[in-house]
Amino acid sequence: MDVFDNVKKQVNKAGTIMGLDQEEKSLVLNPKRMLNVNFPVRMDSGKIRRFNGFRIQFNDARGPTKGGIRFHPDVDMGEVKSLAFWMTIKNAVADIPYGGAKGGVEVNPKDLSSAELERLSREYIKAIHEFIGPTKDIPAPDVYTNPQIMAWMTDEFEKIKGGHLPGVITGKPIELGGSRGRGIATAQGGAYVLRKYAEENDLDPNGICVAIQGFGNAGSFMAKILYEWGYNILAVSDSKGGIIDREGLDIPDLIKHKQKTGKVHGFANSKEITNEGLLESETDILVPAALENQITEKNAGNIKADLIVELANGPTTPEADEILNKKDITVIPDVLANAGGVTVSYFEWVQNNYGYYWTEEEVLKKLEAVMVSAYKNVKKTASENDTYLRNGAFILAIDRVLEAERLRGNI
Ligand code: GLU
Repeated sequence: MDVFDNVKKQVNKAGTIMGLDQEEKSLVLNPKRMLNVNFPVRMDSGKIRRFNGFRIQFNDARGPTKGGIRFHPDVDMGEVKSLAFWMTIKNAVADIPYGGAKGGVEVNPKDLSSAELERLSREYIKAIHEFIGPTKDIPAPDVYTNPQIMAWMTDEFEKIKGGHLPGVITGKPIELGGSRGRGIATAQGGAYVLRKYAEENDLDPNGICVAIQGFGNAGSFMAKILYEWGYNILAVSDSKGGIIDREGLDIPDLIKHKQKTGKVHGFANSKEITNEGLLESETDILVPAALENQITEKNAGNIKADLIVELANGPTTPEADEILNKKDITVIPDVLANAGGVTVSYFEWVQNNYGYYWTEEEVLKKLEAVMVSAYKNVKKTASENDTYLRNGAFILAIDRVLEAERLRGNI
C-alpha cells in the first residue's frame, strides 16, 4: 500500500469542503523535487555496501523546505513523499515561514556500528548537498536519527562548502548551535495543545489515563511531561511490545529501565501487552507516537479513548478518521499535535542566522504561544466549516500555501 494514497484522500476531503478546483488540487498534491540517491558506504569489514536514500522537497511557496531525515528499513519514496507533504501542511498550520520536505535512508541503523553510521550519514549528505542549505532546504532528525547524526551531517556539509553554516540542519547538539528545548520540543508542543484542550473541556489530569504507543523521542518525553503533570500513564510500548499497569507506570523509573535494557518489556509490576492491545486499551487518552497507519478501519471501531493526540506522523488512515468521528472521538491531528518539533527547529535556525542564543525558558514560552495559536486557528477553521480538526488543519494550511503560490504568480 502506498501511504501517499492517504494523503490524496485527506486532500480530497478538505478540498471538497474548500471547493478547490483541479489546478489548485494538482498544485497542492505534486512535489516540487524528488531526489532518489544511491551511495556507497565502507563497512567495518572493509566491504562496500550501497544504500538507497531520498530527499523530497514538496512545496517551497512559504519559505525554504524543511523536514527531518528518517533512517528505517521500510523507508521508500511513497512514505517520504507523504511525510514531505505533511511537513508542508504542518509548517503552514504552525504559521512558520517554511515549506515542507522530508528525507530518508533505507537502513536499519541498529545493524550498524557507530563508525558505519557516521560514514553513512556523511555519504548521504555528499549525495544531496547541492540541494540543501540554510536558504533552500533544512533537514532535521526524525525516526531513528538524533543530534549526533545531525552533527556529522552538518560537519560534512560545512566541509564541502567551506565555512560555518549551522543553519543548514536543525536538531543539532547545543555545542554545535542546537537550540535549547529542541530535544523535548515535539512532546512539549503536543502537551501544550493537550493542556489547552483540557482547560477548555474541564479535564483534571488527576485520574485521566493515557496510553502511549512508541517510546522514542516523542513518546518517552510525552510520558515524562504528562506524568509530571499528574496524568496516569497506564500503558506504553516500543517496537518490541508494550506494558500496562492500571495503577500507573512510574515513568522516571521506566526511562531508566529502557536506557538499561533497550526495551520497556520486563519493567517491574507491569503486564505485557501487544502494540495492537495498547491501541484498544481502556484509556481516556491515546497517544500514537510511532509510525504511520496504526489506527485503521480494522481497529478504529475498537478504540476506547475519548481523545487521540497524534505525535507520530500519519498514524490514522482517512477511513479510520470517519469511524472515529462517528464515535465522537476527538483527534488532535499530527500536523498540529507534533508541530512542536519543527517549531523549535525554526527557532534553532533563527538563532543560527542571528548567531545569538536563547534560554530554554524563552524557547518554551515562544513554543507555547505558537502551539496555542495554531490550535485555536485549527479549531476555529474546523468549526466554521462544521468539520473535525484534521480537516480544519488541512483547510487552514492549504489556504495559506495557495495564497503564497498566488502571490508568487504560480497559479
Ligand atoms: N521530524 C520532525 C517532524 O516530523 C521534525 C522536523 C524538523 O524539525 O524539521 O516534524
